Amino acid sequence: MDSSDRRTFIKSVTGAALVAAADLSAAGSSSVAASGSPVFLSTWKHGQPANERAAEVFRNGGSLLDAVEKGINVPENDPNVTSVGYGGLPNAEGEVELDAAIMDGTRHRAGAVCSLHSIKNPISVARLVLEKTRHTTLAGGGAFRFALEMGFQPEQLLTPQSLEAWLKWKATPNRPSFWLTAENHDTIGMVATDGRGHMVSGCSTSGLAWKLPGRVGDSPLVGCGVYADDNAGAASATGDGDLMTNYCTSVSIVHSMARGASPQEACEELLRHMAQTDPRNRQGDQICVIAMNPRGEIGAASMNAQFKLTYALWRDGESRLLEAPALY
Ligand code: ASP
Repeated sequence: MDSSDRRTFIKSVTGAALVAAADLSAAGSSSVAASGSPVFLSTWKHGQPANERAAEVFRNGGSLLDAVEKGINVPENDPNVTSVGYGGLPNAEGEVELDAAIMDGTRHRAGAVCSLHSIKNPISVARLVLEKTRHTTLAGGGAFRFALEMGFQPEQLLTPQSLEAWLKWKATPNRPSFWLTAENHDTIGMVATDGRGHMVSGCSTSGLAWKLPGRVGDSPLVGCGVYADDNAGAASATGDGDLMTNYCTSVSIVHSMARGASPQEACEELLRHMAQTDPRNRQGDQICVIAMNPRGEIGAASMNAQFKLTYALWRDGESRLLEAPALY
């Protein structure tokens, strides 16, 4: 790039950033009026007990961050949820590697951990990265040592069932692997508002079963698996993180809401954009998103009807499971 090209590039990037910033402050100052009541929205069936716990923590005086963290702890602790925390299916070498992130929409700060092993509550470690350090993301051995320093106890995260599933996969001739294809997943993603304009987004996962060791999906990446901004809203994503990372899904949705889209329109706009940029994204690929604005209005969508998103909504004391519309 010569210097004039570079100047044009910098000018256009700066211009785009200014437009986005103007969008965010416009959304913050005008139309967004909070509803007065908390709302919790999570991915998948295991999102329902997570929402209920989050609502309970909030009702008992916890902060919105406490509520989202403790809510997400529920599927993390459940050995029957094979895609999150304890009991999550391991990587190709039989080790459970966990990813999580939590973002505070008031401070515009997140904490995240990637490839964390032996600690069943990565969302709580991520929360401490946010509260106790000047970093945003810790990975692998460093994240593990940080967790130990924070008082977490290492434990075996393989359950008899997940070990058996891995041994079975390992013994399968011509088994599918991530050199070629994809397998089991289902992150817990949660977005929440306190009803007074504060937004939080959190997410926790064991990622894709049988992934290559060291693989990091979209979930712990700020802007991909989580994003929250009190001026516009919060979003989270679940599905094929290797694909979705390339579209920075959550921040794209939040910026659409900042430009005036409803949460549902913002979710669908992102999925349509993915389908338009690569028609292969319409078929087969597993791409689902959820969003909420500071008024507590929600959005949820999946790319296609072969992989429909069931989501959990807690509002006004009522806890429900619903199905998101599919675009294709
Ligand atoms: N997005 C997660 C990942 O790719 C998996 C999931 O949402 O189920 O790690």
